Amino acid sequence: MNMSIRIGNGYDIHRLVADRPLIIGGVNIAHDKGLLGHSDADVLTHAVADALLGALSLGDIGTYFPPSDPQWAGADSLILLAQVYQMVRDRGWAIANVDSVIVAERPKLKPHIADIRKSLAEVLALAPDQVGVKATTNEKLGPTGREEGIAAYAVVLISQSA
Ligand code: MG
Repeated sequence: MNMSIRIGNGYDIHRLVADRPLIIGGVNIAHDKGLLGHSDADVLTHAVADALLGALSLGDIGTYFPPSDPQWAGADSLILLAQVYQMVRDRGWAIANVDSVIVAERPKLKPHIADIRKSLAEVLALAPDQVGVKATTNEKLGPTGREEGIAAYAVVLISQSA
């Protein structure tokens, strides 16, 4: 048996503004600001989707869900992630694990990490222990540190048995 493995990485950042919900990894988090974007602006879900696409050199989510397409206005990003996951499966690949970091000065994300992992694991048909989600502040430095936005990084490992 030959096993192939691939790695992918994804990055995203969205601007924090008033009067928007804050949705991270599909979880709605109470906060005085939310992320601005064409879809629900779920920065972590976008980073994970880009990591999956990157592992197979399939481009990025903007290729498949362009902001110019009104169909994706306010879209639930978990639905986009489910479609990306299907593309990976269709090509015969399985996800080994996902790891990620959210960079946010506020709100404190620790109380939400378990829910976020569960939410992403559900869409990707993984166990929560295959989905690492960490949160860090940016020590008040740069755009994330000034609370102008929230960023996320993700890596995935996928494998294919033949
Ligand atoms: Mg995005």
